[in-house]
Order: sequence, then structure tokens, then C-alpha cells
Amino acid sequence: MKKYHRYYSILKLKCPRCGQGDLFERKGLIVYRNKLGMPECCPVCNQKYEIEPGFWIGALWTSYPIVVLIEVPFLMMALFSETLGPWIPLSLMFVAFYFAYPIMLRLGRSIWIHNWIRYDEELVAKIRGKS
Ligand SMILES: [Zn+2]
Repeated sequence: MKKYHRYYSILKLKCPRCGQGDLFERKGLIVYRNKLGMPECCPVCNQKYEIEPGFWIGALWTSYPIVVLIEVPFLMMALFSETLGPWIPLSLMFVAFYFAYPIMLRLGRSIWIHNWIRYDEELVAKIRGKS
């Protein structure tokens, strides 16, 4: 029997309640096409993902720090590097943002929903018992 790990579930973009169903229709952190396409409910445990209207707006609180973490080193480089000048670090900042953008959106949503819905061990035991 596979043990549930919360952080693994967040990083693998899994349902917070059962840890098995996928949060997004397309797998992976770096996805550009249909990056926010999500099923309405978990295909395994039937947990509704958008708990209330506007639920995902709250994910801004979790996605913003991800971008800050990624971009601040480039900003510091632009501000304090005496040899590089400002344009190389700022260009790198845009490149980093291009790759970080889908990670920010998807991981931000995953962290947000894991913050509100807890793993349900009994339910998972029931699901495993059925199959
Ligand atoms: Zn589920």
C-alpha cells in the first residue's frame, strides 16, 4: 500500500483528498497549452476542485511567492552586478518568467487546494477496498 505524502501530492499535482486523481487534465508542471484545464471533480474520489465560486483567485496568494523566489535573484543581479549591467539580468528574468509562468499557476493552485482540503484516509481505504 502506497503511503500518502502531502508534499509529493502537491508537487505531482494530485487531488488533496485521495492523493490519486490528477488536479489538471494535462500532466506535468511545465505545460503551456491548456495549462489551467482542470476536471470539475476528482476522477477517483469525486472531490469537487473549485470548492466555491472564485476559489482559485485565492491561489494568487500561493503563486505570487513562487515567482518572487524565482525572479529576485535576477533582480539582485541587475541591481548590484557591476560587470553584467542591467540588461542581461533583466533579459534572463524574462526567460525565467517564461518557464516559471506555468509552474507558478499550476503549483500555486495545487498548494492552495492542499491548504483547504485534507487527505481522507478512510475514504482512500474504501476506494482501495472496492478495486
Ligand atoms: Zn481525489
